[in-house]
Amino acid sequence: MKVCKFGGSSVADAAQILKILDIVRSDAARRIVVVSAPGQRNKGDDKVTDLLIACAADVLAGRDPAGNVARVVARYESIRADLDLPHALVEGTEAELRRRLAAPREHEGAFLDAVKALGEEQSARFCASAFTAHGLPSVYVDPRDAGMLLSEEFGSARLLPESYSRIKAKLSTIPEIVVFPGFYGYTRSGRIATFSRGGSDITGAILAAALEADVYENFTDVDAVYPVDPRLCPEAVGGEGIAEMTYAEMRELSYAGFAVFHEEAVLPAIRAKIPINIRNTNHPEQPGTMVLPSRKSVPGRVNGIASTAGFGALFVEKWLMNREIGYVAKLLDILAREGVSIECMPAGVDSVTVVFRDEQFPDSVRERVFARIDAELSPDHVSYSRGIAFLVAVGEGMRTTVGTCLRVVSALSRAGINLQMINQGSSELSIMCGIRDDDLKAAGQALYAEFFKERH
Ligand code: ASP
Repeated sequence: MKVCKFGGSSVADAAQILKILDIVRSDAARRIVVVSAPGQRNKGDDKVTDLLIACAADVLAGRDPAGNVARVVARYESIRADLDLPHALVEGTEAELRRRLAAPREHEGAFLDAVKALGEEQSARFCASAFTAHGLPSVYVDPRDAGMLLSEEFGSARLLPESYSRIKAKLSTIPEIVVFPGFYGYTRSGRIATFSRGGSDITGAILAAALEADVYENFTDVDAVYPVDPRLCPEAVGGEGIAEMTYAEMRELSYAGFAVFHEEAVLPAIRAKIPINIRNTNHPEQPGTMVLPSRKSVPGRVNGIASTAGFGALFVEKWLMNREIGYVAKLLDILAREGVSIECMPAGVDSVTVVFRDEQFPDSVRERVFARIDAELSPDHVSYSRGIAFLVAVGEGMRTTVGTCLRVVSALSRAGINLQMINQGSSELSIMCGIRDDDLKAAGQALYAEFFKERH
């Protein structure tokens, strides 16, 4: 059995919804469909969730929400008209939106979540109606009836664990295709609560885990995860995507800013060891990228390259530092007291470099930290440099191969890039290279050419 989640672009208009219908119909294992609210039809278009937030903001600011309400209604009306669905669906959407906007507001977060959640609810109702009208018997299932209980943390709610067995008991008895709205559930007191933005992924992962699905299919608008972030190396779009990666590789890549998923979003599926398949609604014939608990790794093969910019490095040097017990601990304590979260810490015999996100180190913090280092650690030299980026090469195959690091370093050196730091994690899953921000594009292209071009 497969749980399929379709993001906002996949339900943005009638044509996209018909693509979903074909996808679901083409595989009898696809029993559960989770949908987002309608997203952008083209660049610059509105997302329904943003329009709903604008409606709620109007009400909270004492403005008339009529304009934004009309925009939401128009989006659903165009879907209704193109799919020839009953008028009652749009009338219901408008009436419910007005009701939620006018409801008593004892809690602002709860008010906002009730309005936001309407996007997914109506999306699921429209899809269930469209599928059934096109001969695929489907039912809308409300998260309340499925027993999806969330914490009272409005806007970033979490699932209460007892939900899993309740969801399983409810959904596994339904003979039709289940169309389930993403993004929200209900609190114990019966109020609507949403996950954080993009939270339909979480709903899909929860249902996949609850139902012990064979696969959690996450349909979006890319054919696969590219081995190098296309913003860094546009050429990667023309090449092959990553066919398989492990959960651990995904974590390393997304840690370094590679937008595979928000890892927390798919945590329920990962805990239940459910394979995740990232696929494209517009090219369903493509196999996409499988994210698996483990995989047969090819020795030496780098599976993906991520990058992240905006770091700074604090360099502290002191002759015979290695003989002073607790020196580095004191330095870290000074930073911790300023709330600086540390990324990595390459060290030499008499020097240590502490790397962190530069945004945490405005001039005021820097001055205090420098003053304390001078007073308490009597260093020979202290300096801070901004503009550092990291390029991370990730691959399970590194563990069993000699020379991956050499290939990374040689490729960068041939491209004339000065390597400022290098770090191989003890899991031997990734090699992290610190370079100048300005060199990032050239470095990404050099590593793409080294590890992926020959595969075309
Ligand atoms: N519609 C919600 C959002 O825009 C949730 C989602 O699409 O996953 O954040």
